[in-house]
Amino acid sequence: MDIKQQLLSRLPSVDECLKSPYGQGWAGSYPRRIVLRSIREVIEEKRREILSGNDPDLSIDVLAMEIEERIRRHSSFRLQPVINATGVIVHTNLGRSILSERAIENIVDVARSYSNLEYNIEQGKRGERYSHLREILVELTGAEDGIVVNNNASAVLLCLNTFAKDREVIVSRGELVEIGGSFRIPEVMRSSGAILREVGTTNKTHLRDYRDAFCGDTALLLKVHQSNYRVVGFTEEVSIDELVRLAGEFKVPVMADLGSGCMIDLKRYGIYGEPTVQEVIKAGVDIVCFSGDKLLGGPQAGIILGRGWMIQKIRKNPLLRALRVDKMTIAALEATFMQYLDEEGAIKEIPTMRMLLQPVGYIRRRARRLYSLLKRHEGLKADIQIIQETSRAGGGALPEIEVPTFAVSIKPQGLTVNALEKRLRHGRPPVITRIRGDRLLLDMRTVNNNELKILGECIVSALTRQQGA
Ligand SMILES: *Cc1c(COP(=O)(O)O)cnc(C)c1O
Repeated sequence: MDIKQQLLSRLPSVDECLKSPYGQGWAGSYPRRIVLRSIREVIEEKRREILSGNDPDLSIDVLAMEIEERIRRHSSFRLQPVINATGVIVHTNLGRSILSERAIENIVDVARSYSNLEYNIEQGKRGERYSHLREILVELTGAEDGIVVNNNASAVLLCLNTFAKDREVIVSRGELVEIGGSFRIPEVMRSSGAILREVGTTNKTHLRDYRDAFCGDTALLLKVHQSNYRVVGFTEEVSIDELVRLAGEFKVPVMADLGSGCMIDLKRYGIYGEPTVQEVIKAGVDIVCFSGDKLLGGPQAGIILGRGWMIQKIRKNPLLRALRVDKMTIAALEATFMQYLDEEGAIKEIPTMRMLLQPVGYIRRRARRLYSLLKRHEGLKADIQIIQETSRAGGGALPEIEVPTFAVSIKPQGLTVNALEKRLRHGRPPVITRIRGDRLLLDMRTVNNNELKILGECIVSALTRQQGA
């Protein structure tokens, strides 16, 4: 018998694996089909290794370890929590906003039982899904009425379709933005059936540019938040107040796509340039929309506020049915908005706001705690420091708000920084970091205090594991 045949004959069968003490353990803890699939996969891999001339370790202990690792992978969720050490608070790739505890509790309550989602309890008859958020939206923002859809992209689409189908919408060329690769104002405009009327240039748009564009076919004047880019230098844009005045002359409504939708005046905390939703409504903008999961700090949603007759018209658009929110979104949004009734409470309890406005001293303290957790391990092969940094709070999702922060900076020895980054990313839980030169940065703005211990363990494990592992 040749050596390959000999090795192949030593491979256990699926049945032998199942009947081993390991197999009996798995049978009690995991679904049978996942156990079977994992055993088959590992045996098949070993078979291939043998056929390609290798001599793998076929002891049952080694096989069982690999099978168990495989079982664990197959039975864990693909969508999973990660530690965000990037410092980007509203990180679209990492799920944007973390919900507040109250929002989470409310989702659980509403998901666990039947609810009055579309039932009017007082009158004992059919009710309206959108009614639950109406009062709180009006109370907080001063708008006449409001409605909520699946996300802000659908909000923009729905508004344009309702008010400007087959008619013209005037937009500045400086505001024809693309957000996150898939939301582009000109394309959304086309999908809605509205006709884009561009005015001005990329860097400068004057009031007269808007004025010259008005015609009998003008349905709407749209202002779009530039969100993830800035025009700097020789620039000019027309203020909301001026647009409202001009549109009033022509009796055409003004719409603002605010993108983020901030409820708290950030100027009071030293962050400038982001208007609040309340200010924009007060300025007389007729229809305003923004995301639920950016600065607001709630679930994915698109909030539309505005004149009573306009929201009424939106309610009658059949497209609304295709974009409607589910009960869990409503539950989370209602709880989040309720928290904004008390600004101080909102800043403490809504994670997005808390992370944005926390004093930099807190972040430094967190960096020091992680630093000392790491320093407790003697012989860690790395140069570890605490550094002061500036982080962009919003990534691609928010205005380019820059805030000072502190990071733990690690330069590994005997391991490349790319390898360290990869090990952390593949850890349990995955830790997402950024690389600067030959150092790995862990920005402490977006790390929670209760994540510090496990984060420390992940880093130690990544730095001490054998090469190649
Ligand atoms: C983010 C953003 C959108 C898209 O919002 P989603 O909630 O991601 O659909 C639309 N317009 C602007 C200006 C934005 O910043």
